Amino acid sequence: MAAMRAAVIGTGIMGAGMARSLADAGHDVVVWNRSADKAAALAGDRITVAESVSAAVAECDAVVTMLFDTDAVLAVAGEITGALRPEAVWVQASTVGPDGARRIAQVAGPRFLDAPVLGTRKPAEDGALVVLVSGPSDIVQAAAPVFEAIGSRTVVTGPEIGQASALKLACNAWIGLLTVGTAQSLALAETLGVDSALFLEAIKGGPIDSGYAQAKGAAMLARDYTTSFAVDGVRKDVQLMIDAANGAGFPVQVLSAVLEQFARASEDGHGAEDMASVRTVFPGG
Ligand code: NAP
Repeated sequence: MAAMRAAVIGTGIMGAGMARSLADAGHDVVVWNRSADKAAALAGDRITVAESVSAAVAECDAVVTMLFDTDAVLAVAGEITGALRPEAVWVQASTVGPDGARRIAQVAGPRFLDAPVLGTRKPAEDGALVVLVSGPSDIVQAAAPVFEAIGSRTVVTGPEIGQASALKLACNAWIGLLTVGTAQSLALAETLGVDSALFLEAIKGGPIDSGYAQAKGAAMLARDYTTSFAVDGVRKDVQLMIDAANGAGFPVQVLSAVLEQFARASEDGHGAEDMASVRTVFPGG
């Protein structure tokens, strides 16, 4: 695989790991972050820090955006398109929902991919994300070295921008429900007088188990809310699901119940903590 020059715009939890994975795969990486300290912390072998978005993307073969939401991406979109070489590919990996992806695509130009990712802090650091991608197949092919560096698998959802972001929302609906469900079962067991750790023991290894439930459940038992995916990020994503569902006439009762739990956790001061802190909204949390 030929080495590329790739820019990563946004080096928060996910972008930092993705930048390191690109460098580990042998690519030359240029990073930019709004808060300069987070980008500076990445400087080293094959990673250089740019002073501006346009300086970061100017000489690149590919740019990856990994920012909080649609507005954050649109805030830098003009600088990206103004400096990006015409043959370079823009891989938009932030979770923005299908409407957000289409809004960004309108200003991004033709070599743009809707490419949100599954996986959290550790898979981002390990280059083991699952990349969901939609866009023209020749552009998907051109971005393959980026996907190979940041991910263990790529799921191509189709040619239309927004399809990958739609699948991402469906996946995160599952993640949100699973996390709230894990918190609920631990709390219910405890309230009914059973050692809540036995819930994880009971489901372990069987068809109703999940690696995610075990990982988030263990964090809930330990009250360790070190952030892999912040409550406010999940809250943003569930709101995107509700907006997309409303637009499609899809019922939102369950999504609304999930959103309410993360909103309560955020309002209680857990917004920047890991989504496992949704345990705090249930009794004994
Ligand atoms: P994060 O650590 O909070 O990073 C957010 C990034 O967005 C930071 O670089 C932040 O810059 C930047 N940002 C926010 N508003 C901005 C603005 N107006 N202009 C420019 N930059 C702005 O969050 P993260 O967990 O890495 O998530 C990044 C994206 O990946 C989100 O869309 C999230 O939903 C998605 N995602 C997250 C996970 C996960 O498990 N964490 C998994 C899959 C997808 P500052 O540092 O200056 O604040």
